[in-house]
Amino acid sequence: MSFSFEVRSRLDDRPGRTGVIHTPHGDIETPAFIVVGTKATVKAVLPETVHELGAQAVLANAYHLYLQPGSDIVDEAGGLGRFMNWPGPTFTDSGGFQVMSLGAGFKKVIAMEVSDADDNAVAAGKERRAHVDEDGVTFHSHLNGDRHRFTPETSMRIQHELGADIMFAFDELTTLMNTREYQERSVERTHRWAERCLAEHRRLTLERADKPYQALFGVIQGAQYEDLRRRAARGLADLVVDGQRFDGFGLGGALTKSQMGEIIGWMVDELPADKPRHLLGISEPDDLFAAVEMGADTFDCVNPSRVARNAAIYTADGRYNVNTAKHRRSFVPLEDGCDCYTCQHYTRAYLHHLFKAKEMLASTLATIHNERFTVRLVDDIRAAMRQGRFDEFRADFLGRFHSSTRQS
Ligand SMILES: [Zn+2]
Repeated sequence: MSFSFEVRSRLDDRPGRTGVIHTPHGDIETPAFIVVGTKATVKAVLPETVHELGAQAVLANAYHLYLQPGSDIVDEAGGLGRFMNWPGPTFTDSGGFQVMSLGAGFKKVIAMEVSDADDNAVAAGKERRAHVDEDGVTFHSHLNGDRHRFTPETSMRIQHELGADIMFAFDELTTLMNTREYQERSVERTHRWAERCLAEHRRLTLERADKPYQALFGVIQGAQYEDLRRRAARGLADLVVDGQRFDGFGLGGALTKSQMGEIIGWMVDELPADKPRHLLGISEPDDLFAAVEMGADTFDCVNPSRVARNAAIYTADGRYNVNTAKHRRSFVPLEDGCDCYTCQHYTRAYLHHLFKAKEMLASTLATIHNERFTVRLVDDIRAAMRQGRFDEFRADFLGRFHSSTRQS
């Protein structure tokens, strides 16, 4: 098997660690930020540029690629990496999040605040478009309304066809609005789905023995409840189907920002130390530090490129908008001292002009900077951990980031 993980160093008295994930398409030095290319493209930038800005791996979305162009076409192309000309490691998520979040109209889980429990909650103005039962989820395409069905077996087949090095088991997405009873039933159902995913994954691995090995991560749910999180993590860590175990774990589900580190800690406490852990959907600097400290190894998030397309620029001194009038004559880089291609060759005034003129190059240049900022931050965190100065680096970085944040 050509997938493995080694731990290289550990934080004192906390679960955080550095390591290396070995995949058939190359190594990932952890902790690492994984750039999101939802539809087999990191919007507005070439895969070659994604490589040059230091990204080690790309994560695409099973739901989107299943609907368009179809996972069979990606399979015929030789898998996701070959299809999009990305030679390095790739991830796909299970599609569960999109199926159910688009169904309920929720875009973001992590920012969710606990309000009155309601198992039928949908976002304001949205109609529920996904229905969960014991066997799987029925949903309507966000593209044309067509009816589709995802089950653990469907998700495994789609992800095997997409051919990513790391895949995720199909889990049920709950929100912090769901009742405790619903969360409990959902953790149990996700466990039964995890068993089915392992069985189908094993079957497909044998059937497609000519393809590189694809690792499967189990996804842990349980919202804000310690006993549910621990039970779910233990259950997936111990799960063996026909000799097949999970190769790693996804730290999933609804989290509040304020409780994130604590909740990760509960899960990590129950998980084997020799398997990697991926946290879905974070990129804000304070969240990255908190997650790394508690033992998360990889992360992904669409945010750096999504906000870049709206002219929001990350810097060590906080985030600002290059669209505002004060940058019309700023003939300086987006961020002083940044080593990205954009900052080496272009000015704020030029980016300001491109955004005002609605030129496509605005998105390209801003995305290069924001992705480089996030990748470099996690690289710097990893270096600081190896040198035994994680806490010092965190205090310095966040002190500066927050003291001058919202500068425009
Ligand atoms: Zn830059």
